[in-house]
Amino acid sequence: MDIEQIDTIAAIATPPGNSGVGIIRISGGLVTEIAAQLIKKNLTPRTALFSAFLESDNSVIDSGIALYFSAPASYTGEDVLELQAHGGSVVLNMLLRRVLALGARLARPGEFTERAFLNNKLDLAQAEAVADLIASSTEQSVRSAQRSMQGVFSDQINTLITELTELRVYIEAAIDFVDEEIDFLTDGVVENQLISLIKRLEVIQQTARQGRLLRDGMTVVLAGKPNAGKSSLLNVLAGHDAAIVTDIAGTTRDVLRERIQIDGMPLHIIDTAGLRESSHAVEQEGIRRAHEEIRKADKVLLLIDARDAETKPLLDSIPEGLDITTVYNKIDLLNAAPEIKNTEAGTQIYLSIKTGAGMDLLIQHLKQSVGYNDATENIFIARTRHLEALRKSHELVQNALHQLQTTQASELIAEDLRLAQQALAEITGEFTSDDLLGKIFSSFCIGK
Ligand code: GDP
Repeated sequence: MDIEQIDTIAAIATPPGNSGVGIIRISGGLVTEIAAQLIKKNLTPRTALFSAFLESDNSVIDSGIALYFSAPASYTGEDVLELQAHGGSVVLNMLLRRVLALGARLARPGEFTERAFLNNKLDLAQAEAVADLIASSTEQSVRSAQRSMQGVFSDQINTLITELTELRVYIEAAIDFVDEEIDFLTDGVVENQLISLIKRLEVIQQTARQGRLLRDGMTVVLAGKPNAGKSSLLNVLAGHDAAIVTDIAGTTRDVLRERIQIDGMPLHIIDTAGLRESSHAVEQEGIRRAHEEIRKADKVLLLIDARDAETKPLLDSIPEGLDITTVYNKIDLLNAAPEIKNTEAGTQIYLSIKTGAGMDLLIQHLKQSVGYNDATENIFIARTRHLEALRKSHELVQNALHQLQTTQASELIAEDLRLAQQALAEITGEFTSDDLLGKIFSSFCIGK
């Protein structure tokens, strides 16, 4: 498309509020025309130019740095102008209004990155990593988003796609030479390659699972009777007083959320109201919310006062299918030693939140139960949709291997490989529906 026909988008790229510098980004076909009116000086690509930013009557809105990138050597692949002005919301809005009056339109969330994707500046996994980098809550997730952004994940996916394609072409060639077809398929070459592909898909799946945990973390619900120690546990894990800890039963009436990290993995902890029947209206509402949160959790930590033997009614109140670890707290009052037991009824941990005895067992258990390990040097960031695509592709290649070892139906093998290839291509966005693209980019911030 002719560069001048691409509509021009603009947005304030820095967050609202007052700051030293605020940035307006403009991308599209009208960039040079807008600059001619706004700056009235010649712009050299990639050279900082200090200038006044002018109103239509030539009065000065602000002055600052203008940076021009000419297409295609820019973030979006189009002409881009960045204005670094003073970071006040009124002055930035005046500047933005002037840019819009000169023919740009307001950018949608993520539209700059969407254009970068559409202009092949980055693939979909890399574009997602941009948003994940910005949203990162731990240093490990910053590092892994950076690796994805640089293409570490995409390169591995592309290598697999190339190999799948070559193998499929090889098998399709065999179909055309019917007489030799069986030899083609039984000489062990195809089988070995399929086995090798399956193994490598498994390695990538494992890395991607870690990457998803770095991005999303796990949600842990603290459940248990009033006074079992839920708020105390939350406070110890969070390292500060987020919950009110008291001796009066039923004080944690609302649902408290805390976002913490253990060894780089984000953990969303939800402390629920005591799970017991109550006639008090506020408390009833707390109980209703508690049940709602519990149903969505990755893990439930059921806290029980180690002196209290009645766990059965409590277990009955937790919805089925959830991963429950029972934590027997206050072992200091029984002079018991910390311990972890794997029983048929699930894992049981004996500890004391007050003295800290056994807390290491709990933290280790939490990490283990989601498959998180501390070695994150080679991890790239990943999303649930990537895991799903990898799972699909793995299943299809396994099917292909199964066909080869049983029916040797080469058409079916080729078809499985084609679908496996397509599933992987969804990760990098070569093969992605517009709906999904819309969903992905609309979750970005404006100006990115
Ligand atoms: P929640 O109602 O489940 O949130 O329970 P809290 O965290 O408010 O704790 C209730 C009481 O038990 C508080 O007085 C805590 O100090 C106390 N407590 C919590 N953990 C321990 C523990 O390991 N040992 C002892 N002795 N007391 C504890």
